[in-house]
Amino acid sequence: MAQKLLILRSSARAFGVTSARSFGTSTQLKQKSGLVLGLYAEDESGQSILTPAGKRFDQSVDGQLSKLIQSSGPVLKKGKTRVFFGLPGYSAVAVAGLGKKGLGYNDQENINEGLEAAAEGANLGVWKYQGPKSKKAKPLPVIEPFEKSGTNWSNGVAKADAQNFARRLMDTPANLMTPTIFAQEAASVLSKVNVEVEIHDQKWAEEKKMGSFLSVTRGSDEPPRFLEMSYFGASNSLSKPVVLVGKGVTFDTGGISLKPPGKMDEMRADMGGAACVVATLKAAATLKIPINIKGLVPLCENMPSGRATKPGDVVTAMNGKTIQIDNTDAEGRLILADALWYAAQSPNRVIVDMATLTGAMTVCLGQAAAGVFSNSNEMWEELQKASCQTGDRVWRFPLWNFYTKQISEIPGADLNNIGKGPGGGSCTAAAFLKEFVGDSVWMHLDIASVMSSSGSEVPYISKGMAGRPVRTLIQFLAQLGGSK
Ligand SMILES: [Zn+2]
Repeated sequence: MAQKLLILRSSARAFGVTSARSFGTSTQLKQKSGLVLGLYAEDESGQSILTPAGKRFDQSVDGQLSKLIQSSGPVLKKGKTRVFFGLPGYSAVAVAGLGKKGLGYNDQENINEGLEAAAEGANLGVWKYQGPKSKKAKPLPVIEPFEKSGTNWSNGVAKADAQNFARRLMDTPANLMTPTIFAQEAASVLSKVNVEVEIHDQKWAEEKKMGSFLSVTRGSDEPPRFLEMSYFGASNSLSKPVVLVGKGVTFDTGGISLKPPGKMDEMRADMGGAACVVATLKAAATLKIPINIKGLVPLCENMPSGRATKPGDVVTAMNGKTIQIDNTDAEGRLILADALWYAAQSPNRVIVDMATLTGAMTVCLGQAAAGVFSNSNEMWEELQKASCQTGDRVWRFPLWNFYTKQISEIPGADLNNIGKGPGGGSCTAAAFLKEFVGDSVWMHLDIASVMSSSGSEVPYISKGMAGRPVRTLIQFLAQLGGSK
């Protein structure tokens, strides 16, 4: 049987059970239920304060818990936990430090520290990728709120579930998550929440003259796919959709510009943008966000072979521009180019693409945030506001002509797929994409920096692929749908 964990309100950002200390008496434990509750830092009198639900639990056990907290040592710091045994009703009661009560927006950290997100934090915190082992997978703890109130809990669960879905897609080995399998998986999950899914094949891409996308797929024996997903949440099905475009390279060897072997296995997650798009659509449909959303995902492998594109080859994209491919490992922008142009051909409110695009983004930001490039201050401000709410942050970078010149002032073709440099790799990649969005309002998220987690950067995300920034995207869409 799965262990059961009941959560009293605690902050997602504080919920990281990494360094628990134990107190009280541990006797024969029959129950398998645990209880987690939050504790704010001290008030003026030097006392820690339990959350309202925590106080009610304390009263129900005649104040035993508050006595244990007082006698167990110094005030509990934010993000730290202590576990108490021997209290009635539960085999263990964990108390998590929430920091000071009533904190608001911190403009230095670009984060709202006053929000509580127990459902998200808890459901992200207990999840881990369990691959195909011959032994039966360990059941994850079942989490329930101690006290139910409104839809906050179920909404938080929907957001965390979406991010965990993206984590699973990203962490699954590439031989078990080919373009075909990814497309089938997306169709099976999204059809259950009333999202229409069309799976286009190579012939369709050829008819559309997606020469840039197809140049990347050439080296692989796995056939490419192009997913087109539609969610109609607005009262008017014709109202302009937000278009989400995700890079879906299900394995990136680098192609003929082969990557070094160290950590190459991580390139199974080079479809992180695609995973985030599918997961965000799932959540938007579950939460019934009242806007229309279209998802576009080009899926392929980037492999070296006798048919693979060679450095120096010139191809023609769907919009007629010629591209000299000097580095076959800069393939994400090549598949996105045609997907963006395809998106720009239909009326849309904004196009948002996301891609594990450049290693340079990790050099810039570490795992703190995703990089954002946009031709719209308004959309950028919406996204930043969303990220302050979720704690999964974004940071804006420039889209200057300086970078456009680096990829366009070249002999022999209209564009080059790598900048003349030196440096600025994330910015030249964004400048390249800008050539394919026409007049659309557009935002590009380079999510290479937040692709994976070592288990230490974000206390509630264990080691593995991170599924970031799905919750920020969901919040962004909710804001576009009118919620604050
Ligand atoms: Zn690559």
